[in-house]
Amino acid sequence: MASEHRLLRNARLFTALDEAVIEPGAVWIEGDRIRFAGAQADLPELPADCDVTDVGGKFVMPGMTETHAHLSFADSSPFAIGATTVETATITAVRNADLMLRSGFTSAISFGSTYRIDVALRDAINGGRIKGPRLMAAGRDLGATASNVDSPGGLSQIADGPWALRQAVREQRKQLVDVVKIFIDGEAINPVNPPGELSFCDEEVAAIVDEAHRRRLRVACHARSAAAVKQAVRAGVDFIGHANYVDDEAVDLLATAGKRIYVGPAIAWEVQYYAQCESLGVSKETVRAQGYVAEIEATKVAVAKMRAAGIKLVVGGDYGISIAPHGTYAKDLEYFVDLFGMPPAEALICATRNGGEAFDPKGRAGVLRDGAWADLVIVDGDPMTDIRVLQDHSRLSVYKAGRAV
Ligand SMILES: [Zn+2]
Repeated sequence: MASEHRLLRNARLFTALDEAVIEPGAVWIEGDRIRFAGAQADLPELPADCDVTDVGGKFVMPGMTETHAHLSFADSSPFAIGATTVETATITAVRNADLMLRSGFTSAISFGSTYRIDVALRDAINGGRIKGPRLMAAGRDLGATASNVDSPGGLSQIADGPWALRQAVREQRKQLVDVVKIFIDGEAINPVNPPGELSFCDEEVAAIVDEAHRRRLRVACHARSAAAVKQAVRAGVDFIGHANYVDDEAVDLLATAGKRIYVGPAIAWEVQYYAQCESLGVSKETVRAQGYVAEIEATKVAVAKMRAAGIKLVVGGDYGISIAPHGTYAKDLEYFVDLFGMPPAEALICATRNGGEAFDPKGRAGVLRDGAWADLVIVDGDPMTDIRVLQDHSRLSVYKAGRAV
């Protein structure tokens, strides 16, 4: 039998506890947990049967967390996400889970599933029947009548009023989801629910969050405008997706919510929609008129404000549509560096430690230290000088729970 102990030595080690690179660094793994991560010179005495691997100076970092995952999305047109049949969506979801893990993302927070696919996917992953990241599973997107998600197909669950919404949350609890995804405002392409137009009233969001938290579920929301972000924070939502247009009051509220709230800009959609709109039969002029170029610029300002206020930003970008397909998740770090002006180390912290904290409040994910899950990525390249290297799967060796993927 192989040893339960494994040592990775001669690493350029990024623990994500801070922004430092330790060289030479070492990681001692016992079973599915880390026993030590730090300078090689500080290694404690190892068991005699420890399996030792010299990683040859490669970069070793924690596994990343995709915090806005849609594993059940089948890389179809962004205008027809919910139209994929349950059969096709399920088959591609199994493939997507494997792809996400091989992309260096060892955990994922779902921001909505078509049908009930996430729950089945999570259980199959945890049961060892398929490969995939640790998954916080969502149910269908929960929205009000005339919200952005009020469309036919497998994506939505519609309810209005606090009691009906409490019942919807209870139904999702019965279906064994971990997180409830709600739509607080909408999209520039949606004439009945653009950003800034709140599709729920305050009582409705408060009822959803109260019911979810009492049932030990967390709540994720789509919130683009300052008004939507404020409604989310006041109601106690856990994860905010987008936050493109925050004002000073929204930033103050987020800062007060402090440690318990995580914000993911999820800018891949806007960037790739503008870059590839012609493939969808939409002209650049139309995309500008729809306001998406302005939305990218607003998001840069919003992210700068949130960084200055110390808001916890996370990586995760709505991947799973034709123009931003599965497997390209690490492009988010490139956007964090190129669009938002973060040093690579800060983008790495967003992808690892911040995302890991969002996924597991007990601190076992996204960092390399004694007691953490042995989820890590060995990179043949240097993300500190070129963050794009993380997009090349052939340069990544991924470990989940101490085992090579
Ligand atoms: Zn989404």
